[in-house]
Amino acid sequence: MADKLLKKENLDKLIRSVNASGGRVVAPTIDARQVVYKVVNGAAEIVFDYILPRNSYKEFLFPQTEVVADFKINKEGVELTGRGINPVETIVFGARPCEAASLASLRAIFTWDFIDEYYTRREDKALVMTVACTNGDDACFCTTVDLTPESTAGSDVMLKETAGGDYLVFPVTDRGKKFVEAHKEAFDGAAKAEAKKIFYPDKIEGVDLAKIRERLKKKEVYDDGAWAPLARKCIGCGACTYVCPTCHCFDMIDEGTAFEGERRKNWDSCQYDTFTLHASGHNPRDFQWKRWRNRFMCKFNIYPEKFSSKGCVGCGRCIRVCPVRLDITEVMEAFSK
Ligand code: SF4
Ligand code: SF4
Repeated sequence: MADKLLKKENLDKLIRSVNASGGRVVAPTIDARQVVYKVVNGAAEIVFDYILPRNSYKEFLFPQTEVVADFKINKEGVELTGRGINPVETIVFGARPCEAASLASLRAIFTWDFIDEYYTRREDKALVMTVACTNGDDACFCTTVDLTPESTAGSDVMLKETAGGDYLVFPVTDRGKKFVEAHKEAFDGAAKAEAKKIFYPDKIEGVDLAKIRERLKKKEVYDDGAWAPLARKCIGCGACTYVCPTCHCFDMIDEGTAFEGERRKNWDSCQYDTFTLHASGHNPRDFQWKRWRNRFMCKFNIYPEKFSSKGCVGCGRCIRVCPVRLDITEVMEAFSK
């Protein structure tokens, strides 16, 4: 039985309470006719009928662009001053279980050989309230990557919708418990209502993660003839990487004049032809299929091998957003043989 009930009519109370304690609430809302995660200031801004927002909430922990330092160049040399950050508590309301599971992957990469505090300090201040899925589409494939539409990995509080549109509240972590306690005026006591039926996407027949890894581990896979035809239609736009909750590549660039300016950390994409271009002009990933191969290897071999976390959580965003409908599950099937 759920610990508490969160009534939809009390969401305003919860948002006000979070705001009063200095925090902010990020939730699915409408922007340019699309459902996206944004900061909301009232329940009226929240969208409740959605499968998955178009963007990933990673952008609140790992911004698309941010200044990390200022520089000055003078006769004495270069003066570089780092910019600190002071993140506020960020409550993500309405995350889906697939995306919540991706936080472990981002944490792994941003604490691997260097602690990237621009990420870790924001994630330390984030609390994820996940809503189990009662709906899905043909791009959802969490069950194929060993997750479910009610997995709790990465969530602090799991919510399950009731037929009346309220939420049964299941705290998952100690932080989640403390959060519910700290904002108790927004929650009602033990709930007796039934949860709505959870939507389980079918497991894709013919996909075998163990076989994919086995094949990707072999040295000869780099020149496998399967890559080029599978990735032929990719136009290298990078959209799949920007919406993906586990993609994390960034670049550092200096902007300004010859005498002063800012050092920025910007999202980058392994799908761009300049991503691995060397100063010499040599490019080890000189064809699009090699860039696609990299993305796939990263998700299904490097991540599980190096970090024991998932490189792909089966959210299906890359399939929905791809302008040429390149479907990662077709590549998974091809490499399961
Ligand atoms: S690769 Fe595609 S399906 Fe997998 S986590 Fe990224 S966006 Fe989602
Ligand atoms: S979104 Fe589609 S076309 Fe664009 S880089 Fe990704 S796979 Fe290629």
